[in-house]
Amino acid sequence: VMLITMGIFWLLSILMSVWMSRLTMRPILRSWERQTEFVGNAAHELRTPLTIIQNKLELLLTKPNDKIIDQAENIAIANSESQRLQKLTQDLLALARSDSNTVQTNFEVTRLARFMTDIVEPYSEIAASQGKSLSLTPVTDFKATLDQNLIHQLMNILIDNALKYSPQGRAITISARLIGRKWQLIVADQGIGIQAGDRRRIFDRFYRVDTSRSRQTGGNGLGLSIAQWIVGLHHGTIVVKDNLPQGTQFVATFPLNPSASLTGRRDKKQ
Ligand code: ADP
Repeated sequence: VMLITMGIFWLLSILMSVWMSRLTMRPILRSWERQTEFVGNAAHELRTPLTIIQNKLELLLTKPNDKIIDQAENIAIANSESQRLQKLTQDLLALARSDSNTVQTNFEVTRLARFMTDIVEPYSEIAASQGKSLSLTPVTDFKATLDQNLIHQLMNILIDNALKYSPQGRAITISARLIGRKWQLIVADQGIGIQAGDRRRIFDRFYRVDTSRSRQTGGNGLGLSIAQWIVGLHHGTIVVKDNLPQGTQFVATFPLNPSASLTGRRDKKQ
């Protein structure tokens, strides 16, 4: 009886340790799975423009007597695909930095009105050239502590998207407002909108609501993941809402002075 009891205990302890090790291994396995999926997706995204460039170059090499107009078209396509590759590698690099926590942040007290005007102004011209309107709602004079390069990058992502997903004739409005000890950045458009079911996933890496449309407009599905990372570095939050009666609104909310809570984090990164 003693031997059987000891045997059962021994068996139970083995089962327990296997179960425990599965529990402790689970996050590691999950992060490994995520990395593998990321690399797979990245490779897939890189392959498409590379294949197109290769095909176009081969055409130019094998058919040197083609009409100039056809050759020019092949060169233009290869050129736009190489620009896509460049953007993709920049985005992948930003996400790799975010994963390894190696980004250098530089938080500065910033006067929002001036800062935002400088960023938005060039976009108004781009919007006008596409038959859309883009404007900055006058910002009250307040200051916030932020990393100017990163918030600039965040605004680029949100404004680029607002332009990409808005048909001609529509308006895009950018605003910043002070709410107690927090401030908000709002980018609102009257574009195609995002269905409720997709809103949860648009911040996922490589997620695109409509892959073919996004590809046409040069999207790679990484912009909003980078946006979310930038907001997180500022201890903020970002949400997407309907912009009634039509379109989408991205609202990022930040503490006015995240520097106190960021000190530990920044030290770790440098
Ligand atoms: P992409 O490079 O494809 O635009 P993002 O990560 O920036 O990638 O956005 C993910 C997806 O979210 C887009 O493919 C698009 O379907 C949707 N999306 C983002 N911003 C908007 C917007 N302002 N209006 C409509 N859909 C949007």
